[in-house]
Order: sequence, then structure tokens, then C-alpha cells
Amino acid sequence: MPLRPQLLEPLNETDSAIEWDDSPCPLCGQHDEELRFEAADPTPCYRKQGLRFLVVRCRQCGLSYTNPRPAPDSIGQFYPIDYKPHRRPRKLAQAHPRGRFWERLLGRPCQERRGLLPWDGVGRLLDFGCGGGSFLKRMADQGWDVTGLDAAVGAVQNVQEQLGLKAVVGTLPHQELRAGSFEVVTMWHSIEHVHEPLEILREAYRLLVPGGKVIIACPNIESWAFRRFGVNWFGLDLPRHLTHFSPESLTAILQTAGLRMESLRTIRHSDWLRSSARLAMRSPRAHFRDQLLTWKPLAKLAAWFIYVMGRSDCIIAVGERPKM
Ligand SMILES: [Zn+2]
Repeated sequence: MPLRPQLLEPLNETDSAIEWDDSPCPLCGQHDEELRFEAADPTPCYRKQGLRFLVVRCRQCGLSYTNPRPAPDSIGQFYPIDYKPHRRPRKLAQAHPRGRFWERLLGRPCQERRGLLPWDGVGRLLDFGCGGGSFLKRMADQGWDVTGLDAAVGAVQNVQEQLGLKAVVGTLPHQELRAGSFEVVTMWHSIEHVHEPLEILREAYRLLVPGGKVIIACPNIESWAFRRFGVNWFGLDLPRHLTHFSPESLTAILQTAGLRMESLRTIRHSDWLRSSARLAMRSPRAHFRDQLLTWKPLAKLAAWFIYVMGRSDCIIAVGERPKM
């Protein structure tokens, strides 16, 4: 029997317009999945309360993904109007271009990483899923020739009108973006949102010059935080996160797209620990340890220990389009 989203309460008329997509594995294309867990949408979006979503694991390649999932024309209904990454940046701090010594040694908080590219030089940069444009603005200020791409019309308008930067609406492939026209393509917490991540990465490969790089950040489902918090882990964000990567599956999909792995690491993210702990505190089975992790200094300390163990909940990977 095919898996279906679980309805705990009747949906209203608007909800009945949602189309569901029963997807094969986004990496290997097989339809051989097993149920991993089910969880609710964590956002207090009242219209969607009562829906629970299933995360399955492909028996062939091990990738975890949300399935069934809202179809491309329906997924927009699950994005709150004030979805955080789409907001206009309030503060555009100038980052140190190479990072401070201790930050490089100990791992940097996730927001800070955006000012750090792992090699010298400037060029043409495409930010896939640019949201409110804070990263684009920072890189433009450092001399990069930047272009933003986002499916949210309002977000792209803000980037164009408020920040005065190039940005286009849509996804990849995009008719306004030419092959071999970028040195860098960045995907900060966007690859987990797309229905066809492999196709997106293949197109990113085509847009890059030989030797150009894709930089990806996404949640790590093999993290300590997921093992600890389970369905309350902040990095799940169902149903907006459609693919749930681990270091292994992210490496596999980058290589399948033709990219050579240059580096992969996890970075600490104490705000996510605190958010996960707050979500866990909603549960009747909440534990006192969860409450402790809502306390900022303790969350920072825990995030540091988890980082040292190599089990942080955010992955950053760099893949290169081979020169030959
Ligand atoms: Zn698979």
C-alpha cells in the first residue's frame, strides 16, 4: 500500500487543493523506500495543523526524503508569508573576508560563514535560493559580480529594488543564465527545498566554468541533534525540506552530478540547538535536558562539543567542476 500523509483532523476547502507527489528517490531514481519516521509541520501555520509528513529512506542508496510530498504547484502553500529566509536583511554586517583565526579553527556560527569563501579571488557568483539577498549584498560589497535566483517573486523584487542587485525569478535551468558563465554557484540552505536536487546540481555544473565551484550548506540528518531531538529537530522543517542529506548522501549526489568533491565539513549552530530544544519542550514527554539547551550559554557550549565530535547539524560542501 502506498504511503500517504497522515490526516489527524479534517482539512478545510483550501487544503483540499493540495496536490501530492509520490516520488521515486531523488538520487538513484528507484522506488524502493522504507518508512523512517513521521512528523508534523513545526510552524504555527493554523491552516495546515493536523497534517503529518512521512520521511522515507531509499533502500538502494540510503538517501532520506519526504514522501509523499506537496507537488511543485502546491508546495508554496506551506511557506508562511513571513518565511524567515525570504525577509529583507535587517543588518548587513561587513564580514572579515578570511575569518578570524579562532573562528576558522573552532568552526563559525552559521550566519557568519556567509562571508567566507574557501579560496581567494573574485568573479561571477550565482546564489541559488537567494532569499532576501543578504549574502548577495555582502559579496557584492566585496567586489563579486553577483546574480540571485529565487522562486519567490517578492524576495527577488526586494533584491532588485531595495538592494539594487541582479536577481531573477525561477529555478534551474533558467533561460537567462548561460552555460559556463559563473565561477561560483552557492546554495545556502536551498538544495533541501527543491523537488529535483540532482537536476539542479547538473545544471549548476553546466553554468560553471571548468574549475568553478558549487558551495552547498544544508542540514545534516546524521547529526547529534537529530539523534537527540528526533522529530523535534529544527533541521527537519517538514514539509518544506524535501531531501534530508547526510555527509554521505550529499557527497553521492554531488559526484553523480559530475562534480569533484573538494571539501565537506560540519559547522556548529547553537541557535538550531536552542530552536530544537524549544520545539522539544512543546512535547508532553519533554525532558529537563531539553530545557537546559534553551539556555544560550549552554547551547553554545554543547554546540562546540558536538562540533569537536564532528556531529554538528549543518553540512558545508564544496564541489568543483573538473578542469578537464
Ligand atoms: Zn536512492
